[in-house]
Amino acid sequence: MPESPRDSHYMSLDVTEIFTSIQGEGPFMGRPAAFVRLSGCVKPLCPWCDTKHAWGPGESMPVTWVADKVCGLGNDLVVITGGEPLLQWASGLNHLEDRLIKKGLTVQYETSGKVLIPAESKGFKVCSPKYLDGRWHYVQDNNQRADCFKFVVREDLAGVERFVKDQGLSPNRVWIMPLGDHGTDQLALSPGLWEFCVKNRFNFSPRLHTLFFNNQQGV
Ligand code: SF4
Repeated sequence: MPESPRDSHYMSLDVTEIFTSIQGEGPFMGRPAAFVRLSGCVKPLCPWCDTKHAWGPGESMPVTWVADKVCGLGNDLVVITGGEPLLQWASGLNHLEDRLIKKGLTVQYETSGKVLIPAESKGFKVCSPKYLDGRWHYVQDNNQRADCFKFVVREDLAGVERFVKDQGLSPNRVWIMPLGDHGTDQLALSPGLWEFCVKNRFNFSPRLHTLFFNNQQGV
């Protein structure tokens, strides 16, 4: 495996961080995974964002180096997140996905749905739509292209119900998670969200990384 990300290759990705951890939320919750956090997001940016360090430019890394690095970590699941990772689809992410899948890894994306999910992607797309400034910032066609949807919520449960109904999503594609970058916030919200999920037949997920480590980065 190359020692440095600065080798010359024809395609690069703008990367904030690469690390191993356990997927803390959603349908892959609890699975050990490599994480690739790509840099850059789509405006309007969310004031509550817990990954603001991924908003700006990161480090330019060749796709081949990133693929080797991820494979070398030894996980069979890789979570590609951001920022908004799909912003870099055509500029190199498509090649990274191809390389990782050919190596037998499962690729899971975390996307906001503010950009169109590429139809040709073979990864598992988890879409987390954002409601701000009085509307959902979401590309309509993504309701066919995302594999599932997750909502981090505090109290706007009616808004989530409306979105699910308007988009025609079946309940088994929906995950509900408690807002809060501290474990105590999550625990306070969870019983109410549990009942909300039972009522609507939605999936419930805690956010294990913030439940145990609050807003610490790299977990
Ligand atoms: S879409 Fe996600 S990464 Fe981007 S600003 Fe909002 S919460 Fe942060």
